[in-house]
Amino acid sequence: MITMQKELFRQLFKRAFTNQFPAKHAPKSVNALLEAVGKGKAKLNPPVPVPENFRGKIAYDKNKCIGCQLCVKVCPANAVVFKPKEKKISYHTFRCTFCGECVNVCPVKCLTFTDEFLLADYKKD
Ligand code: SF4
Ligand code: SF4
Repeated sequence: MITMQKELFRQLFKRAFTNQFPAKHAPKSVNALLEAVGKGKAKLNPPVPVPENFRGKIAYDKNKCIGCQLCVKVCPANAVVFKPKEKKISYHTFRCTFCGECVNVCPVKCLTFTDEFLLADYKKD
């Protein structure tokens, strides 16, 4: 118990290694914040690097897409919808479970995982 109290007390005086989150701590202007960081008037902790093969938001290269619909067929969450007029797809992040099936099946590799993980928003799309 005493060890835990010691650790808690020690933590109170350690500097933070993360940036404050969520939105209520976000700066009004990211540009102004970065300017202030550049002038040494504000401080940002560097983001923790994401591991290799991280499954972040999926990027879709529309120009490469051949409209084969394989991604639509394998998606277990109905997160990929085919647009017949365009012969392209729409990807809905809010439905995605990041299983990677569509990324693996795409014959032209136009679906790829990014390292983007800040996906919380007020609008589901
Ligand atoms: S990663 Fe999985 S859930 Fe997300 S769009 Fe691809 S197949 Fe669907
Ligand atoms: S599998 Fe790839 S090429 Fe086929 S429709 Fe999906 S994104 Fe387009």
